[in-house]
Amino acid sequence: MNIGKDTVVGVHYELEVEGEKLDASGDNPLTYLHGHGMMIPGFESRLEGLSEGDKYDFLVPAKEGYGEFNENAIAELDKAIFMVDGNMSTEVFEGAQLQLTNQEGQPMVGVVQAITEDKVTMDFNHQLAGKDLHFTGSIANLRAATEEEISHGHVHGPEGHQH
Ligand SMILES: [Zn+2]
Repeated sequence: MNIGKDTVVGVHYELEVEGEKLDASGDNPLTYLHGHGMMIPGFESRLEGLSEGDKYDFLVPAKEGYGEFNENAIAELDKAIFMVDGNMSTEVFEGAQLQLTNQEGQPMVGVVQAITEDKVTMDFNHQLAGKDLHFTGSIANLRAATEEEISHGHVHGPEGHQH
C-alpha cells in the first residue's frame, strides 16, 4: 500500500535544521494518522505515495513547516504582569521560555528576548519559524486506519491512544 489519507504510518525520521540534528525517532518509529493535520503539512505532503521500506530525504521550506518568522509575534509587555508580590518573578530572564495566557484565554509560549526598566520583550514565534527543515528517514510500516480511528482523528493501539 501507499501512503494516502487515512493511512496509519510508522515512520523513522531525523530532523536537521541548519546542519544541526534537532530530533529523531528512537528505536520505535513515530506513528501517526496521515491526512488529519497531525504532522506539519510539508512533511505529510512529501510522504504521500511512499510505501513500506522506502527511504526519503527532503527539505521542507519554512512556509510549509512552522511558518515564516512573524515580526508581529514579538511583543513588548509591561513588566508589571511578571511581578509577584512586588518582585520580578525569578522565572523571567533573557532566554527563558514562558507560557502566558492571551486575552482569549489561550496558552501562548514565548521566549524572553530582552528586559528593560519597565518592559519585557517576548518572541511568540515557534522556535522553528522561518527555518527550513531537513528530514531524512524511512517508512517502517503502513496499515489502513479503522473507522473508529478515522472518526477520532488519531491512532489507537500500543503506539497511539488507548481508551
Ligand atoms: Zn480515539
